[in-house]
Amino acid sequence: ERMMEIRRQNCNPMTMKVTYYKKPVFIHKGRMQWLWDVDGRRYLDLFAGVATVSVGHCHPKVTAAAEKQLKDLWHTTNIYVYPALHEYCEKLASYLPDPLKVVYLTNSGSEANDLAMLMARLYTGNYDIITFRGSYHGGSPQTMGLTSNAAYKYPIANGLGCTNTMCPDVFRGPWGGNHCRDSPIQTIRQCSCAEGQCMANEQYIRQLQETLVTSVPSRIAAFFGEPIQGVGGAVQYPKNYLKEAYKLVRERGGVCIADEVQTGFGRTGTHFWGFQGHDVIPDMVTMAKGIGNGFPMGAVVTTPEIAASFAKGVHFNTFGGNPVACAVGSSVLDVIKEDGTQKISLDVGTYLMTELAKLRDKYEVIGDVRGKGLQIGVEMVKDKASRDPLPPEAMSEIFEDVKDMGVLLGKGGLYGQIFRIKPPMCITMEDADFFLAVFDKSIHNYMEKQ
Ligand code: PMP
Repeated sequence: ERMMEIRRQNCNPMTMKVTYYKKPVFIHKGRMQWLWDVDGRRYLDLFAGVATVSVGHCHPKVTAAAEKQLKDLWHTTNIYVYPALHEYCEKLASYLPDPLKVVYLTNSGSEANDLAMLMARLYTGNYDIITFRGSYHGGSPQTMGLTSNAAYKYPIANGLGCTNTMCPDVFRGPWGGNHCRDSPIQTIRQCSCAEGQCMANEQYIRQLQETLVTSVPSRIAAFFGEPIQGVGGAVQYPKNYLKEAYKLVRERGGVCIADEVQTGFGRTGTHFWGFQGHDVIPDMVTMAKGIGNGFPMGAVVTTPEIAASFAKGVHFNTFGGNPVACAVGSSVLDVIKEDGTQKISLDVGTYLMTELAKLRDKYEVIGDVRGKGLQIGVEMVKDKASRDPLPPEAMSEIFEDVKDMGVLLGKGGLYGQIFRIKPPMCITMEDADFFLAVFDKSIHNYMEKQ
């Protein structure tokens, strides 16, 4: 194992630490919600390669579709007319409301967001772009400017005309907000107002309005927003917050872009797309990760009007929409329907959140449980009164303990204080119970040592 880690260090620039640095996990096989390491140990995968394996590792139907295509044709480029590309684009667009009907296929989320930035600037003639604090929109030199967490930025990302504005995390925000979040589990940070007339909610919206007035130019190109923040730690906005942001952005001449890289393809359970939970229709939707169940794919879907301004120039992407990607993408859409993954997301996700909220009430170090469907965050704190983030060493201790008991989680949030749960959407209630028992035990172990 040590040799393997040395090999990795020698041949990869160390831009990313392995998450389990005490004892790295060497994965070699995956089936549905399960991963196996080189020693044959099995893990329940609750992170899905960062919300990417949507329908299951090596799902038999998706694998069969890829295999079939690999025998017929791998590559053409979009210089030729390749009918399956158009069929897939039409199929994907049928999942989106009018007038979102024009699809550009890319190979990743960063590429999709890069393209959306370009289109927004071409369409509006404006340059500046705003995103929410805590957002992650990509790691390419351009999208790094959209991503707000400094940990993901190199100094070169400065000066790209992007502003990261407010994100009212109702757990950390000044007003609490018990009624604000669209989640089966409410925050323990109560606000004293009545359901339906949440003053905290109004405060957040007023703060958003004031921030936009004071720190954003009068003309902007676009606003990018994740319907629920992924890397930021399942952060959800108060009711009508995204809707108000869309209104303010459009008043300033900008277009609204929903980054569905993590929230798309049924992950939030209640809807196929995260934006549908906010009563908005974006001008562009960007997607990746779950679109290909692990196959490198991404897409931008937009309106014919916006696409027309993009078509004034020449844009070329060698691999975007290659035949294998189209076969995989199309099969993923079929499997989502056939396997009922959106319903699994809703049922297992709601169960997990309800049970995790019980652990939150049991342990002082679990500050918050939130999310929708299988996009869940568990925010760890030193104690509930201070809400200070649980330090990285303590997070790692629990994280590694959970792994040693056979479950892989993700970590995120501004301080790395949030456990992220976003498994392949084929997990079962039994898997959920297995994880809950492991998590309970690991927090118990941690508390014992304090
Ligand atoms: N947007 C969001 C919301 C993401 O979570 C990510 C990846 N974590 C990206 C964009 C970038 O996607 P990729 O890594 O495929 O470039």
